[in-house]
Parts: sequence; C-alpha cells; structure tokens
Amino acid sequence: MKMPRRIRTYCPYCNEHNEHEVEKVRNNPPSEMKWGQRQFRRVTSGYRGYPRPLPTGGKPTQKTDLRFRCNECGKAHSRKGFRTSRLELEG
Ligand SMILES: [Zn+2]
Repeated sequence: MKMPRRIRTYCPYCNEHNEHEVEKVRNNPPSEMKWGQRQFRRVTSGYRGYPRPLPTGGKPTQKTDLRFRCNECGKAHSRKGFRTSRLELEG
C-alpha cells in the first residue's frame, strides 16, 4: 500500500486540522540489561537450546505502526494500526 508522506489531519493538541508528517516507528533492539533478555540468555546458554518451539509461518500481513507529527506544534500522535503487507511512504 502507498501512503502520502504528509497529510492534513486532526491534531489533538492544537484541536484543529493541520499538516502532519507521517513517520514509521521502528522498534529498538532488545536491551541486554532487561530481565526478559537476561532470562532468555540464561535459558538458551549451555545444553538444550531454545526454550519453546521455534515460531514457524507467521502472519501474512503486519500491522502498521505510524506516527503523525504536527507541523504547527511539533507534537506527534498515533492512530490505530491497520494490516497491510507492505507500506510505502511517498510524496
Ligand atoms: Zn498540533
């Protein structure tokens, strides 16, 4: 799916419609200091590898994670994600 890079939509901070910049949100790599990651390293170390069956297949589409940044106030808000196989920002 193709999506424009800038759209005019409602800004909840300005309480009016303004031009918004569309950004994709990337997730950060897991921190090695977090409890879940330490647990994972402990469990997978030594004999016996992965603690649960390896995930196979997966969903055919992924939900989008977009952030809309207002050009007037500079604040960002997000919307409900929708499913699409590929998202292209253009314009
Ligand atoms: Zn705004």
